Amino acid sequence: MATETITARCAIAGGGPAGMMLGFLLARAGVDVVVLEKHADFLRDFRGDTIHPSTLEVMHELGLLDAFLKLPHQKVREIGGIVGDEKIIFADFTHLPTRCGFIAFLPQWDFLDFLADQARRYPNFQLRMQAEVDDLLWDRDKVVGLKAKLPDGTLEVKADLVVGADGRHSAVRRLAGLEIEDFGAPMDVLWMRLSKRQGDGSQTLGRIQAGRFFVMLDRGDYWQCAYVIPKGGFEALRAQGIETFRKDLVALNLALSDRVGEIASWDDVKLLTVRVDRLKRWYRKGLICIGDAAHAMSPVGGVGINLAIQDAVAAANILWEPLRSGAVSEDVLAQVQKRRQWPTEMTQALQLTVQKRIISNVLSMTETPRPPFVLSLFNRFPILRRIPARLIGMGFRPEHVHSPSV
Ligand SMILES: Cc1cc2nc3c(=O)[nH]c(=O)nc-3n(C[C@H](O)[C@H](O)[C@H](O)COP(=O)(O)OP(=O)(O)OC[C@H]3O[C@@H](n4cnc5c(N)ncnc54)[C@H](O)[C@@H]3O)c2cc1C
Repeated sequence: MATETITARCAIAGGGPAGMMLGFLLARAGVDVVVLEKHADFLRDFRGDTIHPSTLEVMHELGLLDAFLKLPHQKVREIGGIVGDEKIIFADFTHLPTRCGFIAFLPQWDFLDFLADQARRYPNFQLRMQAEVDDLLWDRDKVVGLKAKLPDGTLEVKADLVVGADGRHSAVRRLAGLEIEDFGAPMDVLWMRLSKRQGDGSQTLGRIQAGRFFVMLDRGDYWQCAYVIPKGGFEALRAQGIETFRKDLVALNLALSDRVGEIASWDDVKLLTVRVDRLKRWYRKGLICIGDAAHAMSPVGGVGINLAIQDAVAAANILWEPLRSGAVSEDVLAQVQKRRQWPTEMTQALQLTVQKRIISNVLSMTETPRPPFVLSLFNRFPILRRIPARLIGMGFRPEHVHSPSV
């Protein structure tokens, strides 16, 4: 098995939203960068297809918005839910102070392919697919590169900075020995697709019934459905059989009775084990983690991709110059954590509150719920819908691109 050795100023482990956006921004700023992605392509199971208004704003700042919006997508301008029998619209994105008052839904692989195409315009950008990072290179206590498994050998990348953007099961953060704080989650989520039929409407909706929480995301010709279950409850559900599960879905939404048969077996249902965690320190000499590798997000609010992109924009703003002019000190890496820690903490605190106050309660309910007073205010005073829209659509401290284009 051959060993190939290359050098780069920055080596990024993971070609997800965080890694691809950072790779593109650094290459655009004239930094030699290589992104290593373990899969052969970006085509993978559903991992969230939401591009938020703040990310769309970043695309505008990069001059890419028009080209990006030519990709087939759906625009979601409001999000609602049915609690018991009452419909409540609780987020309205149309008033946001951004160019795009909507969430764009498009397959994540289209988004990543788009970023890869943009990044490849720069000769100092390299994307290595089927390169699975499995070790770090050290010089005493400093990380000086990484090693990856290739289909036919090994790749060694010597780099001034290694970035762990390899998601919530990050190998980089484990190899670097960074300490994780785990905040726990009361639920897991099952994901499945059901076809969309004429007359279905097109609104992204959550449904809350006794003991059940179900979300349907409009994906054009199909519904991406999320069924929330108590943590670790998948095996018990499987034991009841697929027919019981189909009946449960119909009980949540009668209109699904003509298509639940599309869930032929448990193979059509994917389990997302929900984690909420955060690194105490996101960096050490020669290395930093961003995106889910630094902070795994709960699916509440569907904000994980947006946070990953915001981390990448902030990291590029802070790192491009030190990377071009010399070594990146720990102080500089600390600035990246400092910039992104507060928005991450605030978002996770909100997610944990929703998990504890709403999701845990719903999952243990035995009677049809009535909307709590606070939720009913969203229908009485539509202006209130702007608050969740801002938190979901823009998040805390939205980032702007300050790294240059060379
Ligand atoms: C089922 C599901 C549904 C979700 N729904 C939403 C949603 O609707 N909206 C939303 O905003 N967020 C959603 N999320 C969360 C969202 O996917 C993440 O928060 C976001 O993708 C984080 O981006 P990232 O780049 O940090 O990590 P990831 O997207 O996880 O990307 C990490 C990349 O690193 C690669 N990788 C991993 N290990 C290695 C290695 N050792 N070497 C090389 N490459 C490696 C992976 O293949 C992957 O491409 C969902 C997640 C899941 C699992």
